[in-house]
Order: sequence, then structure tokens, then C-alpha cells
Amino acid sequence: MSAGRGHDVRRRVPRTDAVLDDDRLADARARLGRSLVKSVVVEALDRVRHGELEPDAVVDAVLADLPPTASSLVPVVNATGVLLHTNLGRAALSGAAIAAVVAAAGPTDVEFDRVTGARARRGRGALAALAQAVPEAGGVHVVNNGAAALALVATAFAQGREIVVSRGEMVEIGDGFRLPDLIESTGAKLVEVGTTNRTTVRDYLAAVGPDTGFVLKVHPSNFVVQGFTSSACVRELAVALADHQVPLVADLGSGLLRPHPLLPDEPDAATALRDGADLVTGSGDKLLGGPQAGLLLGRAELVERLRRHPLARAFRVDKLTLAALEATVRGPAAPVLEALEAPTESLCRRAEAVVALLATSGVQADVVESAATVGAGGAPGRTVASVAVRVPAGWAAPLRRGTPSVVGRVERGALLLDLRSVPPAQDPVLVTAVVAVARGGA
Ligand SMILES: *Cc1c(COP(=O)(O)O)cnc(C)c1O
Repeated sequence: MSAGRGHDVRRRVPRTDAVLDDDRLADARARLGRSLVKSVVVEALDRVRHGELEPDAVVDAVLADLPPTASSLVPVVNATGVLLHTNLGRAALSGAAIAAVVAAAGPTDVEFDRVTGARARRGRGALAALAQAVPEAGGVHVVNNGAAALALVATAFAQGREIVVSRGEMVEIGDGFRLPDLIESTGAKLVEVGTTNRTTVRDYLAAVGPDTGFVLKVHPSNFVVQGFTSSACVRELAVALADHQVPLVADLGSGLLRPHPLLPDEPDAATALRDGADLVTGSGDKLLGGPQAGLLLGRAELVERLRRHPLARAFRVDKLTLAALEATVRGPAAPVLEALEAPTESLCRRAEAVVALLATSGVQADVVESAATVGAGGAPGRTVASVAVRVPAGWAAPLRRGTPSVVGRVERGALLLDLRSVPPAQDPVLVTAVVAVARGGA
């Protein structure tokens, strides 16, 4: 570009404020805020300066480039076949939970009794819902996540004391997050018993002494040990500890409240408490299918001590979490359970319909068998029969980057769009996204 032409273009670049104040952007200014719209205007004007955009097309370009919301988080169609994908925010909320979040977004009676006008117990609705779902629990408390639940228990019951745990349960959960590091950061000392593959009740009892704060059972939720193994179950441990005045805490991980027929090996809160655990911890956004939260259920006096501990305030959950949690527990089945329970034949029918729709747009794809997993440390080692739509591997990146964004799984040289992790209502979205990428000539 010659200096003369460059100068010419610069003079023709509209002023930022003039574009920003254009009437056609009034809605966007109200919805997204002036500064966010301004940043999009600035980018468009840059393109004008580089000769990539005509000056009189700026407002249209801005309208096309505006983000749908004021948050940079983008919704993603989870076609990975991993039902609870940690990188994709774990559990998808149910419609009921989303509605509850929206309703609670403004001022709400989260900690207020509208009858008396006095302060009330924070999140009592969510706590009551959990208590009702798990009558085996004398007390219920909710914190920010499973890790916070464990940190609170370790601090309240074992700071400066010992926690007895099996060597086979000293797990790393993911992204370098190791439970032993978390627990020891609270000032509790871990006493490992047994070996990686075998730990007996006698191993635990030999380690229990006057300094023991509690005995901890951890569900090794993201791996399975096979072969010559044995571990003491909650029931055996509870019986053995009965004379010792030492609480038994079970970190279940998945947050399953009651047994699920399709997950026979997955521990649940009701069973663990009935088997004699004094306290159980779990996550809200794994198999419970709710918002990120840490669940604490168990003996009333232990839960009360946790609730009154100064650290409980630092782990306190938000009203949005409480709203979503209550609606998840009381409301219709969570998406993760619907995904888990969907009959394979229904996935097959959906996949065939998706492939047929793609064909009408001239896009070739086929239906293949697939294996989905629960993910996020649920049901380790277990795959769930699934069905996928197979397209070329080269489409993975453009599908990820597109709007709507679709994340699949590249396997054996192809991109599999696994339908078990996709809610049926999103099938048309999937079709639109694939057609767009195929037409884009990727
Ligand atoms: C997932 C998990 C945790 C951590 O829970 P977050 O909600 O991710 O903090 C702790 N223990 C076990 C066994 C887990 O599976």
C-alpha cells in the first residue's frame, strides 16, 4: 500500500465514538455495556485501516462480531462421550436448575425469613432437600467443592493430629491435584497404612491411637486397582472402630446420594452412612449432576462442628449454587443421569437421523459404535456402550472453534461425535455445526 493511499484510508476511518453512538448499536450498548461494544468497534476500525473492511460496513460488521453475552464463556456441545468433562465444566444443569439460578440472581431470601422478617439459615431449602434425599444423614452442610469439604473436615477434626488412610487411597484427582497435599496443607498429619494394593482392617486399627483425628476412606475415583487386591470396606471399618471413639469419614467423590443400578461399584452417601460412616463428603457437579459444590452429610453433632468452624465462612456457597443444588435434588433427573440411562437403541436412532439430515445437505458421515465414560472421577474403568457420528478428523478443530462450538473425540483417524454426552435437544445444533464446517471446505 502506498503512503498516499494509506493516508487516504486513514482519513476515511470513522471515529470510534461516532460508530459507538450509532442508533443501530443501542440494543448492544444496553445489553453488553458500552466498553465491551467499544472493544468490538475498535477491532472493526482496525480492519478498515488495513483495507479489509469498507468504512460504511463497520456497524454491520460490529453487529456480526458482538459476543452473545458479556461473558467470554462460550457454550459448547459436549460430543466427547465423556459425560462429566472437567474441562467443559462437569455436569450440565437441568432446565429446572437453570430456572432456579435465574430466579435467584437478584435479591432473594437465601438467608432471610419473609414471614418474621428476621435472618434465617442460609440455603435452608437446599439443605432440607439433601436431608430429605438422604434420611440416613443427621446433618447436612454444603461448601464450595469436594476439596473444600475435605479441607474443612481435616481442619476441624485433625489439625495438629493424625488422619489414618490406606496407602492405596492416596490419590491424585487430576491437574496435579493430590488429596494428600490438600489434607496435609490443613496441618493434619497423614498416617498411611497397608500397601498400594492391600489394606486390612487390622492395618487401620494398628495405626489408630490417641492422636487420631479420624479414619479416612477415599474412593479412588479415577482408577481401579486390579489383581491381588483387598481393601477394608466402610462397614468393616465402622464395626472395628466402634470402640475407639474415632470418626470414620468417607470421601465418596461422585456425590451420588443413593445407589444407582447402572453404577453398581460407585459408592453412595446413603449406603455409606447406613454402613456406619460418621461423615461422607462428595461433589455437587459429578454424578449428582448439579452445580459445583461440596456435600457434607453425616452425624448431626459432627456436621454442626463443621458448620460453626471459622473456615466454614471461607468455603461458603453462593446463592446461585444453593438454588441450582436444591433444584437438582428436588427437580427432574439431571442431564448426566439422563445421558447415562439413555438406551443405546435411542442413541442409534438419533445418530441415524443426524446422518440422514447431514446427507440431505450433501455431507457424508456414518454411524459407528462408541464407548462413553462417566469422567470427572466417576465410575473408573467403566465404559458405557454408545453410538457416534463419524466424520473426518480434520473437522475437529473447525468444529471446536465454530459457533456453536462442538467438541468431539478424535479416535482411530476419525472424529467421533458421541451422542451419549449430547442432550437430544442439541442434535439439530450438531447438524448445523457439521454442515457449516463441511461447507467451509475444511
Ligand atoms: C472429585 C473428587 C474430589 C474433589 O472434589 P471437587 O468437587 O473436584 O473439589 C475429592 N475426592 C474424590 C475422591 C474425588 O473424586
